[in-house]
Amino acid sequence: MPSFLVTGASRGIGLAIIQKLLQDPDNLVIATARDVSVSKALQDLRKTYPRDRLASFSLILETPSSIDDLARDAAALLPNGLDCLISNAGVAYEQGVPIQDLDIDLLEKSLQVNSVAPVRLVCAFLPLIRKGNGKKIVFITSGAGSMGDAPSYMVSSLSYSMSKAALNMYESFASCGTALFPEGFTVVLIHPGWVETDMGNDLNELMKTYHPDFPKISAEESAEACLRIAAGAKPEPAIKFYNYDGTEALW
Ligand code: NDP
Repeated sequence: MPSFLVTGASRGIGLAIIQKLLQDPDNLVIATARDVSVSKALQDLRKTYPRDRLASFSLILETPSSIDDLARDAAALLPNGLDCLISNAGVAYEQGVPIQDLDIDLLEKSLQVNSVAPVRLVCAFLPLIRKGNGKKIVFITSGAGSMGDAPSYMVSSLSYSMSKAALNMYESFASCGTALFPEGFTVVLIHPGWVETDMGNDLNELMKTYHPDFPKISAEESAEACLRIAAGAKPEPAIKFYNYDGTEALW
């Protein structure tokens, strides 16, 4: 039974990803959110699917022991290892703030959640992924972390962009470095589009002003696109950074 762990699955893109994964009766899905007991969507899914199809755990990314606890709980559920880790949870604390007003505390928090925690997550889960057949790690990142495309993302916040750029660099190293590619790992990096979610909707006003024609897609469309890209990806010595439409994004 292919197993998936998806972070940030209480709402938005993560929720749409687990809903899509659960449509395949062969899949076992582990979903996380900061507090799974307050996510009505997750609770409803838990009532629909038995625990051997869907398990949910609370995960607070900036708390290292929370990541370790999750890795331990997941290992107990998955004797044959984890096939695919989808690191999707993320935060954008502010939008459209001019560079001179950058809030350093929010920069640190953004780096903590969006860059440092996913690295910790991968480190904690490597033993379990090594045991699995899929050996796949998918990062839902953002075009906002692209240096080549930075002008298109200026409406977003610098702290968010910096945190995603750091994440992208980690993924490049993780994928092509000495550990993962030779072991047959596939590491995929996906920009999910501008998406109708809590985070995406925070950009509505700025996008209306600066990019009025920019397409916005639903969480379901984004999830389907991300999963299609992830399913088709193979181990490669040089990681690819994909847009949700399957084209390659600028680094
Ligand atoms: P949402 O804000 O809708 O959902 C964020 C998810 O992450 C929630 O499940 C939330 O859990 C979880 N989360 C937030 N903070 C933490 C934390 N500290 N520890 C653990 N979990 C946390 O975001 P989206 O669905 O829009 O975004 C998903 C991913 O896609 C993110 O990585 C984002 O950067 C990226 N992205 C989104 C775009 C968009 O337009 N929406 C564009 C480009 C990239 P809880 O419910 O408990 O808060």
